[in-house]
Order: sequence, then structure tokens, then C-alpha cells
Amino acid sequence: MAYLDHAATTPLLPQALAAMTDELGRVGNASSLHAAGRRARRVVEESREQIAAAFGARPGEVVFTGGGTEADNLAVKGLYSARRGADRRHRVVVASPVEHHAVLDPLHWLADHERAEIVWLGVDALGRVDPAELEAILADRVDEVAFVTVMWANNEVGTVQPVAALAAMCREHGVPFHTDAVQAAGQLRVDFAASQADALTLSAHKIGGPIGVGALLLARGVEVTPLLHGGGQERDVRSGTLDVAAIAGFAAAAEVAAGELSERAARLAGLRDALVDAVRTAVPDARLNGDPDPSGRLPGNAHFSFPGCEGDSLLLLLDARGIECSTGSACSAGVAQPSHVLLALGSDEEMARGSLRFSLGHSSTPADVAALAEAIGPIVERARGARLATTSRARRT
Ligand code: PLP
Repeated sequence: MAYLDHAATTPLLPQALAAMTDELGRVGNASSLHAAGRRARRVVEESREQIAAAFGARPGEVVFTGGGTEADNLAVKGLYSARRGADRRHRVVVASPVEHHAVLDPLHWLADHERAEIVWLGVDALGRVDPAELEAILADRVDEVAFVTVMWANNEVGTVQPVAALAAMCREHGVPFHTDAVQAAGQLRVDFAASQADALTLSAHKIGGPIGVGALLLARGVEVTPLLHGGGQERDVRSGTLDVAAIAGFAAAAEVAAGELSERAARLAGLRDALVDAVRTAVPDARLNGDPDPSGRLPGNAHFSFPGCEGDSLLLLLDARGIECSTGSACSAGVAQPSHVLLALGSDEEMARGSLRFSLGHSSTPADVAALAEAIGPIVERARGARLATTSRARRT
């Protein structure tokens, strides 16, 4: 098996599994006052410290959530609602069009239900926003802007955004800045304090931790209106009994990711470059999407369009050979929709539909790349042949 879909989810690290297994055998609600509760609370607080240290935050800035999607929703809806104010003056949200759906869909919801106006930043052919465009918007409409959200690195094409420049600009104008760092964490140095972001999303299962737990890093003094009301956990920002085992697994993975970051990033970049070369050699007309400069993309990301192919057919043919990757296109009512990210980069619908993402992570090896190198040429030829046959049959009928 060659698992080339780490951007979707990563295998659980042994350290995370051990931390979780220990906890799963124990009882204790971290809000209870008795000894079992205090023990669970200690695990949560030590985990909070480990996660804060791994991502350059203070422990008090870590708000645990049920994953990246919840943290994004909390940031988007929570910042909007806290900033909009009684006079509803701050109605504008500035965002990039290549955000994950966990940011895009709550933005659309705010536009549909809360009369928010979303101002979309442009992106170039590599998927990068231009800080000068944000500066112009802030100079013009700063009194109306509720907050700005731009992801640290894109989940499909791996493009890294100029987050530090955008965050510094927002800070200067007194506007909160949120960044979704779900894909950047574990591959790039993500330092919350140094980034100057006010809110930052993390998800454990993208860094070798468990699925279903994440965090919103929230700078001191930044207000968000809660989405979940109840027991008042997480400083009243996110109610709900804490999942101690998942949090312990998240912390163990974060510690490993931070400790191995430089070595891992260099190793992944080497594998990624070998993968890109292999695909280009086997399929000379394959187009690499995103930034061709390795410093501008995630070390573990390679994303290609294969002219004359359907991404879904390629994915299934590769899967039959034990190679797992992703198309990145969402299915809506049974019809494959071209990715909004590729369309924003200027790709046409056909090229967008013929695309595959290969993503590497902590368990990737040269053997994974070698398996793809051997399979991709014949599989692309087969997919092209099948498509030509279907097209000519369709013409005859
Ligand atoms: N944001 C980005 C950039 C992602 O890639 C993902 C998951 O694919 C999410 C948010 C959602 O995270 P989760 O799967 O933890 O809900």
C-alpha cells in the first residue's frame, strides 16, 4: 500500500496512541472536583501546555474544540458576532476564495442569515493573495471590517500564504485576523505569537493525532461569541465535557511534530521533489498546480492536472494498485464538481476535473513514491484511452 493522502488524514503516531490508550482506561470528568476529576484536569492542562509550547502560544490561549471544522466555525461566526456590535457597523468580512469549506460555508451562512458582506481577495495563478489588496481594502473600509480570514497553507494545492504580512497589517488597523493553519501545522513552523494572528485553527488528525479534536488559538483580549452553550468549559467559549484521551493524543502528536519539524520538512520536501520529477517523467504533459517554487508550497504537497483524464477514474485505477490519493473535487448530487480552488487559480473546468492531489506525511517513504512512479504512466494512458472510447461512442449515438 502507498498512502499518499496525508492531507486528508494522517496515521496515528505511536506516541499519540500510547497517550490515548492510557487515558481511555481511566475515569474522570475534567470538571469534577473529586480526585478522578482533578487527575483528568491535570492531563488536560498539561496537554494544553504542550500544545501551546508546540505552536508558540500561551496555555490560556488554547481553546479545545471537536476538530478543525468546529474551530473554523467558532472563529468565523464567533468573531463576526462579537465584532458586529449593536449598531451592526462591522458587517464586512475579508476572505480568500481558496479557503477550506469549513471557513467558506460559515462565511456564506453569515452572508445569507446575518447580512454579512464578504469581500473576496483575488488570488494569482499560484493561489496567493496580494497583501497590497488587503491594505487597500483596510485603508478604504476599516470601520466596517469585522475580521479578516486567510488560510496559512492551502489544503489542495499546498500554496503558502503571506500570513505574517497580512496579520501585521490587520494588527496595525485594529482588525482581528484569523488563519486556518490545519495543513501548515506539522509541516511548517507555526508560531502563533510570532505570526501576530488573533485566532488560529488546528486539527489533531492532520499531525498524527486523533480525529475529532482540534483547537482554536485565541489571543488574549480577542472576543468570540460561543457557538456551543452549556457547562461553561474552555472559559465559557466552548461548552462540552472535554475528551481527555483525545486531548492527550493531540498533545503527544503536537510535541512530536514540533520536535521533528525541521527534519520532517526536509525529508518530505525531498520525497515531494522526487514524486514531482517521477510524475513529470512518466506523464510529460501533466501540469503541476500551485507554486512550483518549493519554498512557496507545503513540503508534503504535489498536485497535478492530467489533460484528457477524469480525476475520479485515475483515483480508482491507482486505488486498485494499492495507491491512495485524492481528487479534491467535491461530489454534489452524484456529479463531480470541479474544485473551487482550481477554478480560483484560473483552471478551466475540464482541467480541474482531471486533477489529483498526492500528499506526504510522517509515515511516507521512498517506496511510496516509487510505487506511484511505476503506476502513474500506464494508468494515465488507460484513463485517456477509456475517455476517448466513451467520447467516440457518445458521438456515434
Ligand atoms: N481546514 C483545512 C485547511 C482542512 O484541510 C481541514 C480538513 O481537511 C479542515 C479545516 C477541517 O478539519 P477537521 O477534519 O478536523 O474538521
